[in-house]
Amino acid sequence: MATAAGGWDLVLRGGRVIDPESGLDAVRDVAVAGGRIAAVGTGLTAPASRGDVDVAGQVVTAGFIDLHSHVSDLGGLRLQAMDGVTTALELEAGVTPVAQAYRRAAEQGRPINYGFAASWALARMEAVAGLPPDASLGAFMARISDPAWQRPAEPAQVSALMARLAADLTEGALGIGVLLGYAPAASPAEYLRVAGLAAEAGVPTFTHARDLIEMAPATLADGAEEIVRAAAETGAHMHYCHINSTSQRHIDRVLGLVARAQAAGSRVTTEAYPYGSGMTGIGAAFLAPERLGERGLSPSSLTYAPTGERVASADRLRELRATDPGGLVIIDLLSEDDPADRALLMRSLTFPGAVVASDAMPLTWTAPPADAQAWPLPATAITHPRTAGTFSRALRLLTREGLVTPGGPLSLAQALAKCSLEPARLLQDRVPALRTKGRLQPGSDADIVVFDAAAVTDQASYLNSTRPSAGISYVLVNGAFVVRDGDIVADARPGRAVRAEPG
Ligand SMILES: [Zn+2]
Repeated sequence: MATAAGGWDLVLRGGRVIDPESGLDAVRDVAVAGGRIAAVGTGLTAPASRGDVDVAGQVVTAGFIDLHSHVSDLGGLRLQAMDGVTTALELEAGVTPVAQAYRRAAEQGRPINYGFAASWALARMEAVAGLPPDASLGAFMARISDPAWQRPAEPAQVSALMARLAADLTEGALGIGVLLGYAPAASPAEYLRVAGLAAEAGVPTFTHARDLIEMAPATLADGAEEIVRAAAETGAHMHYCHINSTSQRHIDRVLGLVARAQAAGSRVTTEAYPYGSGMTGIGAAFLAPERLGERGLSPSSLTYAPTGERVASADRLRELRATDPGGLVIIDLLSEDDPADRALLMRSLTFPGAVVASDAMPLTWTAPPADAQAWPLPATAITHPRTAGTFSRALRLLTREGLVTPGGPLSLAQALAKCSLEPARLLQDRVPALRTKGRLQPGSDADIVVFDAAAVTDQASYLNSTRPSAGISYVLVNGAFVVRDGDIVADARPGRAVRAEPG
């Protein structure tokens, strides 16, 4: 099917094209025009003035869609692009007011596509504690430990926060992010009302679960039971965020519950990231010194990211929580060196329909950057390695090191589906842009990643957290290169907004 069409902007020639939806896995050329995939075939070529790129021996597939990214800074977004991510969505925390977040991102200009859910936590801070929301994760982090927003809400306060969330949904919010585990005194009834609002609007909720009963016997509801019950009672699509980190060694119990809810017809979906340690603000409710034992933790399970110090004592933890409640901290939850813990992590990733999602965190600077646009990132920038490495690491573990997956390694197409097609399908009902992402087909958006299947790997570690992934040579977003010959294209800002159609 040789073609001599002249309108193409570029052709990626001779790669192994994998499209999990159509089942295509064959050597093909991919022609791009006007930000879309114009043709997939053989013998395609672009005019010499525009360019062919020889990608023989490499995989060409849809760019990765990250449903859980807290990154809004350029350095962090570049790390995600280097990991193959072409769309990074802030869904678990969300941002309120969502219109302000979209406006700010558009003014900023981003290398990859972006989108936001409404934020229950920020709406609650406003309604319950009178704290004005400013549409940023920073606003949440700054007040993460403030008891004023975490207390049980009066009916009028719940109504006010519901009104704020409803307004966000009319502005194209992709769903409702619910950081429930950060306000464990919020009532199950309030959570059900939020789920009901999402059901009415036809969008998902994205929940950081309340404490599990095994961890906190006095919890108002078991965090896992509460999510599946909300799906059954309201009909909402409930997305269970980072099932690995909030379930820890109860992953099998929680996955079993999710599987039964799905079998009963509820729409409950899940995600996981392939790391044993988590990261959040040190002022989080569940990191109070007296509560660490619930998760089998001690102060020394925590590493305070700004200085790299292991927290030495309960007193030091109290001090850090008081002086820098939003300061990021690495939390050792599962041991990556323990085969049983590694197997648990892999079960959370290989669970049918579970998608790979990073929980990528913003950069923390140990000294103010001389140039916030600098690339490569200076050593003073730190984060959780998941920010830089989640997708490459998932591909490596799922397809090449499957010794710890029950059924052996996944096929490349199966693993890629968890990174692109399945996240798109999870959100696409009310989000037109995602119907043309996550696929490598004529008419799809030209969000494309090109990588070496034998070499693709994460390189970020807990000590070197901002080392970009390796083995990914090209990343295109809306037809423009953001990664070329294995490195960032400095001025590329082709990212576009991804919004829901208001219901
Ligand atoms: Zn979370």
